[in-house]
Amino acid sequence: MMTKPKIGWIGLGHMGVPMAANLIAAGYPLLAYNRTPERLALLDCPSAASPAALAAEVDVVVTMLSDDAAQEAVLFGPGGVAEGLRAGQAVVNMGTISPGASRSTAERLEKRGVEVLDAPVSGSVKPATEGALVILVGGKAEAFDRCRPIFDVLGKRAFHFGGAGQGARAKLAVNMVLGLTLQALAEAVVLGEKSGLPRDMLLEMLGEAAVASPIVKLKLPAIAAGNFSAAFPLKHMAKDFRLAVAEAAEVGAVLPVTATAKESYGRAEAHGFGDLDIMAILQALRG
Ligand code: NAP
Repeated sequence: MMTKPKIGWIGLGHMGVPMAANLIAAGYPLLAYNRTPERLALLDCPSAASPAALAAEVDVVVTMLSDDAAQEAVLFGPGGVAEGLRAGQAVVNMGTISPGASRSTAERLEKRGVEVLDAPVSGSVKPATEGALVILVGGKAEAFDRCRPIFDVLGKRAFHFGGAGQGARAKLAVNMVLGLTLQALAEAVVLGEKSGLPRDMLLEMLGEAAVASPIVKLKLPAIAAGNFSAAFPLKHMAKDFRLAVAEAAEVGAVLPVTATAKESYGRAEAHGFGDLDIMAILQALRG
């Protein structure tokens, strides 16, 4: 049996904790780092004092961070991963960051003999916990092959979309469908409520009709219970729509509804709904 590579895991948010826990359960030696050290207690593994110290001790660094700024700080800031890396290691970025930042990370690190993948994920805390994520990968084929056993633990499918940044682009595509679906669901509920439809019956109908996709079915009980505690924080959806609209401008795609949804999620974030679940878009629309 081949020895499992030692993994350095950075980012213990909603997603990072269950994903790293699955690798530990699968027998991977894992060293963790998180900016807020209290969250390290959520994992049963040793931790490093800085991203640089972590990188110096592992074979593969995996990041699960919020956005471009977090990724840049953790990889290239003072005490960052880049300070501890050596040729032959791999860096896998699993957070949703921009295609441009993904390409720039690959360019800077590959020059040093480090393999780099962008590998954002589709699926929230439940599939992360169940090891059933869908993983969208950009980067060189050899790096993808090397990291495939790790993806097999974290997800049910890994798609290799092409070179650096292509995984990040695929992630924007899937999240547009997610964000637009939940915007539509929220608007349907608001219209139903304002028109005097019995709400429970409306929700039950939406769970039975042709529109009852898995994500709609997942969110209906939360709507019924008025429970908007975060699985996928709304602020990340607002960020993803900003990235999608910027990417559309770069590649010349005309996406009118996506542009409107970007404004809608952005307004909800500005009004304080950012740390609640994405489904709190409904609360924002209720006013
Ligand atoms: P989260 O709970 O907000 O966690 C974000 C992580 O990034 C935390 O570990 C946080 O550290 C760290 N971080 C943020 N800014 C930082 C900085 N400047 N320097 C160092 N660390 C920083 O996010 P999440 O829900 O786990 O999502 C992570 C990524 O996956 C996001 O890009 C999101 O869009 C994407 N995603 C999320 C879901 C979901 O359902 N939640 C699903 C698919 C994809 P602290 O603990 O110190 O704040």
